[in-house]
Amino acid sequence: MSLLVVGSVAFDALETPHGRTERTLGGAATYFSVAASFFAPVSLVGVVGDDFTARDEAIFRGRRIDLAGLERAPGKTFFWSGRYSGDFRLRTTLATELNVFAHFDPQLPPKYRRLPYVFLGNIHPSLQLSVVKQVDERPKLVALDTMNYWIERTPVELRDILKHTQVLLINDEETCQLAGDHHLMRAARRVLHMGPRTLVIKRGEFGAMLVTEDSVFSLAGYPQADVRDPTGAGDAFAGGFLGWLAGVGRVNDATLRQAMVYGSVLGSFTVEGMGMERLRKLKRAEIGRRAREFARLTQFKL
Ligand code: AMP
Repeated sequence: MSLLVVGSVAFDALETPHGRTERTLGGAATYFSVAASFFAPVSLVGVVGDDFTARDEAIFRGRRIDLAGLERAPGKTFFWSGRYSGDFRLRTTLATELNVFAHFDPQLPPKYRRLPYVFLGNIHPSLQLSVVKQVDERPKLVALDTMNYWIERTPVELRDILKHTQVLLINDEETCQLAGDHHLMRAARRVLHMGPRTLVIKRGEFGAMLVTEDSVFSLAGYPQADVRDPTGAGDAFAGGFLGWLAGVGRVNDATLRQAMVYGSVLGSFTVEGMGMERLRKLKRAEIGRRAREFARLTQFKL
């Protein structure tokens, strides 16, 4: 089944202990779409400027990614620049130039209005709501990504869109911040009362947790020897997670657990290269192999 994504398509300048890039293709929707398209067809909604060339667009070609919803506006594409500390734990944003993204008003092409799986990338909660309102029928699943910036600045709008959301992808700190509770599991329970039925709590190198009203599933982080650039790991995780669900076309406890594994696999590959470098050349067979490694990582007998 098809998957709709709305979010940023960007140029990034990255500085990590392993190197730097001047201006490389990035953006949450870019990482998400490439990751998700391994499992399901993706329809992308976003905006780029007139500096976005056919060469930049090549990353989407040859994959199941529909660009009918990628608007081209006069001006420059969204630009983001960030630097990581030596242990990758700290990220400093050096520049955020919204450019054409400042006036982004997502418009769904008619053929996108009946897509059963919807991923609302990390943008203003009012824009996320406007996308949900443009969908004709109730989608099978609406998933949402957000961050501390929106939790702090637009709490009312965020609460509103949460009511339309079934799955919330969020990190551990943000879960506590959103709930106003420093205890993670208690915070998770509180967030579950705000709308979503399922929480995916991302914990970086420590893995991820799936929390519902009556169950918890915890997945270890991939024992990664070679991290080069963590940019986009969260978006690629979301892409793997939702791509898997849309691909199998069923949302239940078993498929949600599998989705956690495929999200983690896509996230773990993403950090192995600068920007999109590793995802760009990733093969489906490599994904399968690493998913089996994840299964072995947590298998035991009692
Ligand atoms: P992540 O590492 O998962 O947080 O995602 C990194 C991507 O998010 C980068 O490729 C950036 O271009 C993009 N990004 C950074 N800041 C913003 C923002 N304020 N709104 C939308 N996308 C952003």
